[in-house]
Amino acid sequence: MTTSDTRTSKQDLGPLPSPRLRTAHDVRHLVGCCVCQKVGDDRAMIAGVDGHYHGRCYIKRWGVAQLRQLPKEQQNKLTLGDIGPSAMRTLLR
Ligand SMILES: [Zn+2]
Repeated sequence: MTTSDTRTSKQDLGPLPSPRLRTAHDVRHLVGCCVCQKVGDDRAMIAGVDGHYHGRCYIKRWGVAQLRQLPKEQQNKLTLGDIGPSAMRTLLR
């Protein structure tokens, strides 16, 4: 882990975004994060080999550099509220 990873994972992150539950069918998208164990929405999470990750939890475990290596379809699911402005800037570079 580099110093920039540590800085990014700690910087001004609010509470985790709530899953988007608009219809009863949306419960099918609820999954547990394999880092923090909290429930999230798989449409806004990274699907890793060992389970689903919130963006910020993925960064905490693997770092922003690793996140940048993921396919764009995975990165594009992440929200600003999840990973924060600093990590988002890194992804968009
Ligand atoms: Zn998590």
